[in-house]
Amino acid sequence: MIPAAFEYYRPTDMAGVIALLQEHGDDARVMAGGHSLIPMMKLRMAEVPHLIDLQAIEGLSEIAISGGSITIGAMVTQHEIINSAEMEKAAPIMKEAALQIADPQVRYMGTVGGNVANGDPGNDMPGLMQCLNAQFHLVGPDGDRVVDARDFYEAAYMTDREDEEVLTAVSFAAPVGGFAYEKQKRKIGDYATAAAAAQIFKEGGKVSAASIAMTNLSDTPVWSEDAGTALVGSTCDEVAVKAAVTAMLDDIDPTEDNRGPVAFKRHAAGVVLGRAIARAWSRA
Ligand SMILES: Cc1cc2nc3c(=O)[nH]c(=O)nc-3n(C[C@H](O)[C@H](O)[C@H](O)COP(=O)(O)OP(=O)(O)OC[C@H]3O[C@@H](n4cnc5c(N)ncnc54)[C@H](O)[C@@H]3O)c2cc1C
Repeated sequence: MIPAAFEYYRPTDMAGVIALLQEHGDDARVMAGGHSLIPMMKLRMAEVPHLIDLQAIEGLSEIAISGGSITIGAMVTQHEIINSAEMEKAAPIMKEAALQIADPQVRYMGTVGGNVANGDPGNDMPGLMQCLNAQFHLVGPDGDRVVDARDFYEAAYMTDREDEEVLTAVSFAAPVGGFAYEKQKRKIGDYATAAAAAQIFKEGGKVSAASIAMTNLSDTPVWSEDAGTALVGSTCDEVAVKAAVTAMLDDIDPTEDNRGPVAFKRHAAGVVLGRAIARAWSRA
């Protein structure tokens, strides 16, 4: 399919990007890897008269790890996450999750910034970012600001980002404790039927804290405080896991689509979350 006609821009600095966004407002969209946006344009689900390519903007493609803090530039690709030895050492859950996104071709182009800014409930990184309590860094006409990943998503394809803002990076504390990213999908390369990110801290043989988020089971990613709390003080035994799953099932709101009816999705959510908790606990 062929997209509607559009003007293509390739500014070389962020001031140029923001000026174009200000000039064209809702008619303009930035493009990172283009692997969500271009298919949407081809399917005529998105009409973008002014397309602003971010590829020539410097300073958006670095991974910085220091003092227990990790910052990933918006234009870092999933492929680069998977192949970064420093990232694997500091935050192995990033590789574990990135390997479950699409296929190698998509991962060569798809960026972390595009994945989190897109607002597609099927994207894998937003739930993981909420699990890790990440911050999203934005720049716009009024300067820089930082938003918690847990506060960023409002509805499908609707986020806290203003039309004239660009996401420049995501950052989070290098994860400690046990972690896991589990994803149920229909086939390799597919979006999640259900996916879960779990991080579990262990002290004295018991869970001292836990953070749990799920993907593609509501119109936003779902970080469930109650699901994490349900594990605290336990050894992730059957009763505690069941309580965590019950809490999460109260917080999600899946809809029927070609990945299955609601009852199946709720069942898959419970299975996937149970697996994520078990694996995170085994690593804690
Ligand atoms: C066949 C196929 C399978 C896929 N499977 C999965 C999957 O299983 N899991 C998954 O998570 N994703 C999947 N994807 C999506 C893929 O990971 C995308 O590449 C990714 O979601 C978006 O990244 P991008 O860099 O391509 O962004 P783009 O397509 O360039 O942009 C996506 C949206 O984000 C906005 N945007 C991009 N960068 C910024 C920025 N820095 N600041 C502000 N706004 C920005 C754009 O304006 C656009 O609205 C799949 C894609 C394909 C084609």
